[in-house]
Amino acid sequence: MLNIQESVPLAQYATFRIGGPAKFFAEVASEEDLREALQYAKENSLKFFVLGGGSNVLVSDQGFDGLVVKMKIDNFKIDTENNKMEVGVGASLAKVVKGSIENNLSGLEWATGIPGTLGGAVRGNAGAFGETISDAIESVRTINSSGDPDTKDYRGAECGFAYRDSVFKHDPDLIILSAVLKLRKGNREESQKKSREILDKRLSKQPKGMASAGSFFMNPAVKDAQLIEEFEKELGVQSKDGKVPAGWLIDMADLRGKKIGGAMISKEHANFIVNTGQATAEDVIMLASYIKQQVRDKFGVQLQEEVQLVGF
Ligand SMILES: Cc1cc2nc3c(=O)[nH]c(=O)nc-3n(C[C@H](O)[C@H](O)[C@H](O)COP(=O)(O)OP(=O)(O)OC[C@H]3O[C@@H](n4cnc5c(N)ncnc54)[C@H](O)[C@@H]3O)c2cc1C
Repeated sequence: MLNIQESVPLAQYATFRIGGPAKFFAEVASEEDLREALQYAKENSLKFFVLGGGSNVLVSDQGFDGLVVKMKIDNFKIDTENNKMEVGVGASLAKVVKGSIENNLSGLEWATGIPGTLGGAVRGNAGAFGETISDAIESVRTINSSGDPDTKDYRGAECGFAYRDSVFKHDPDLIILSAVLKLRKGNREESQKKSREILDKRLSKQPKGMASAGSFFMNPAVKDAQLIEEFEKELGVQSKDGKVPAGWLIDMADLRGKKIGGAMISKEHANFIVNTGQATAEDVIMLASYIKQQVRDKFGVQLQEEVQLVGF
């Protein structure tokens, strides 16, 4: 039977190390567990929230007044003949990348070092170094929390993948259960080498030793051609779809190191808000609002959070 706990502090489950308690909390390791949790929420008229690795969330200081379900479904099926993996979305992305490489499958090396679960990565179409998880997705299996007893498979375009976006992000009733990944035949040693290089690149850019939820804002598409030109000239890279990095704009607004309470704009990566130790969610929200206002005033660009706000 599912173990439903009460008043569980969520800070321990979020990489930001911020957040009040969940009124109810359960870890689900199977589809049956998940259905039981959904039933419990329905019977008790509780709001429901699915937590993966907690690496892309900011939980409010008041916590979450409902049932938080920590996704632990992490079954693995590898079909090396057809270069496919079917994985439960509670598996960490690290485990998925490692599993693919060990089985001589290539296509996920770029994701080395991204924290969190496969579920969070699919929902937000996680990406790095020009690649995204959607490039490797063949299909995604979901269950609907609103009461539909059947699971549903989404294939290809049905997933609506775009920059940090998917259909799953727009429908809070959709809970992702598993995904089939389509990879390429690879070579373990070559993939391991690529994976190490990616990790080195990542570590050289990210703040060390401070809690965060990764990039706080999404990279905005801007209309100002002069701004795009300036970015391209300064960084020597081509803008894709009119997008410029949020971190570059925050940097141009001279905000690195700006601090409100315990929350600070990282000195190493301007799009990271870090918890210097005792930050509250309120500190982070105030700092994020300040960043948005400054960037809007200076460049006429509206930043939008990549981090998911929980319990606000
Ligand atoms: C140091 C650091 C570096 C990072 N670098 C990157 C990067 O390079 N690229 C990148 O894209 N991201 C990056 N991130 C952000 C984060 O790791 C990714 O967005 C990750 O994919 C989130 O997964 P998660 O399991 O932690 O999701 P969570 O934070 O647990 O949840 C995020 C959202 O997904 C939903 N969700 C989670 N699982 C499910 C599910 N099974 N079904 C339905 N909804 C679900 C949650 O409800 C929530 O709304 C970084 C974060 C950190 C802390």
